[in-house]
Amino acid sequence: PPQKDGVFKVMLVGESGVGKSTLAGTFGGLQGESAHELEDTEDTYERRIVVDKEEVTLVVYDIWEQGDAGGCLRDHCLQTGDAFLIVFSVTDRRSFSKVPETLLRLRAGRPHHDLPVILVGNKSDLARSREVTLEGRHLAGTLSCKHIETSAALHHNTQELFEGAVRQIRLRRGRG
Ligand code: GDP
Ligand code: MG
Repeated sequence: PPQKDGVFKVMLVGESGVGKSTLAGTFGGLQGESAHELEDTEDTYERRIVVDKEEVTLVVYDIWEQGDAGGCLRDHCLQTGDAFLIVFSVTDRRSFSKVPETLLRLRAGRPHHDLPVILVGNKSDLARSREVTLEGRHLAGTLSCKHIETSAALHHNTQELFEGAVRQIRLRRGRG
């Protein structure tokens, strides 16, 4: 079995409807030599993948919405994650406006950690209903986190997203 420090846990967080479960599904759907299916439940996906020629077990958790805003499940998420993907929809300005508050909460829960956080602007395929443009990257810069735009529907940048999370965790662990 893999070493404990070879297991990276990634939490999908963000408002309802932004595409967290669809993103998780794209990870769960990874096939081929680079991904072995391990134990899955409805809302966690565990895969062994190769990133930068090194194997890692990545567990993606889609459990954020099971907790209410102040609930202990969210605290559990905060304590468990090795990296956090704060997802908003580029077609939903309200979901974007919640990002700073969510990030503050994550950082408050783990005050002595330099948490890997990636700001994910999802639904980039919906060009005509886009409500958030350059502000995504700008906000990420202001908040000192990474930024990527994805389309879970078209699988655009989704593999890059999960690989990026692995790289961010490795960097923090001094193995990057
Ligand atoms: P969650 O509430 O954050 O888990 O969001 P879901 O994954 O359930 O997605 C909400 C809706 O948005 C569903 O109808 C998805 O099919 C749709 N959706 C999710 N990601 C994308 C995307 O990248 N592009 C488009 N066009 N639709 C998406
Ligand atoms: Mg969901």
